[in-house]
Amino acid sequence: MKVSVGSNLYTGLAQAFATPDITGLPAWLAVSGKEWPIYEPAVQLAEERSSKLWNQTVDALEKTPATSLSKHEHTYETLFFGKSSSPIWLYECMYTNGRMPGPATFAVEALYKKAGLEINYSELADHAALELTFLAFLTEQEASNTQNSNTWAAAKRLFIKNHAVRWLPNLGRQLSRTEYPAWAALGFLLAAIFEVKRPKPKTARVQSNYPIISQASECNLCGFCIQVCPTQALGIEEDDSTTALWLEPELCIHCNKCERICEQGALSMQDSENNQDPVALIESPRAKCSCCGKPTVSELELNWVAMRLGERPGWLEKCRECR
Ligand code: SF4
Ligand code: SF4
Repeated sequence: MKVSVGSNLYTGLAQAFATPDITGLPAWLAVSGKEWPIYEPAVQLAEERSSKLWNQTVDALEKTPATSLSKHEHTYETLFFGKSSSPIWLYECMYTNGRMPGPATFAVEALYKKAGLEINYSELADHAALELTFLAFLTEQEASNTQNSNTWAAAKRLFIKNHAVRWLPNLGRQLSRTEYPAWAALGFLLAAIFEVKRPKPKTARVQSNYPIISQASECNLCGFCIQVCPTQALGIEEDDSTTALWLEPELCIHCNKCERICEQGALSMQDSENNQDPVALIESPRAKCSCCGKPTVSELELNWVAMRLGERPGWLEKCRECR
């Protein structure tokens, strides 16, 4: 029988990623990975799906030692609030739009409302914990609401396709590379759950065709190419000083969707020597707020907005809070 991702796995991950100041970290995070309530369901899925990533997930869970909640809270702040380096973002919009809040925030908010859920605004709607909680909710509705089971199943499939799968594997991969065993294990699990089986190209295309930024002056880092990429080969990464559009060549299936969506004509598919290492296709410095000095959007995006306005008014140089 095919094992599907149960609401207990989504709920467990949601609890771990929820902002500690709002809900507190779950008590189970303090025991060893093998004792976590998500361990057994993860092992079941790993046995059924049998992939390298699932093996890594089980291995990472089994190697996770017991760690106090206070240590986990400190690590949470380090990783997600960027206390000592740039943060790993827990918001979909930062991966697909490169700004916070972004269109993704409002899109998922609308879906929660459509499903009859109330939003209390203690966190942005596209926070990982909220998206995972929503998936747990959809899974439970699908299982318990026999009359409308197909409708809930379809809503879940669409949410995974249009939102979860576009960024949660990226978040998971970043975490899996960190030095903190518990968070690396959670990262592996997140990446494995939303792992996309790469479809085989339909025709014998030239496999060295990869996207490049051929017109750098035209790219405004709008993120459309990221949104249409079916395999998350493209992604935005941002720290305090730089916003970059990244390509993971290993994931690219040469479908050309990114080239077709780019209205700016900035991106094109070209034969290129590629050694499969992730590569920054374009980087932009981030603008600083003229008032408080905090980093705001990328200079490329700012220049594009100024060009569309036909001027560069003073307010544009300020962050949202200072305006
Ligand atoms: S390459 Fe095109 S679609 Fe992608 S971020 Fe740049 S302007 Fe947007
Ligand atoms: S060609 Fe297709 S798979 Fe490759 S980066 Fe572009 S959209 Fe993604």
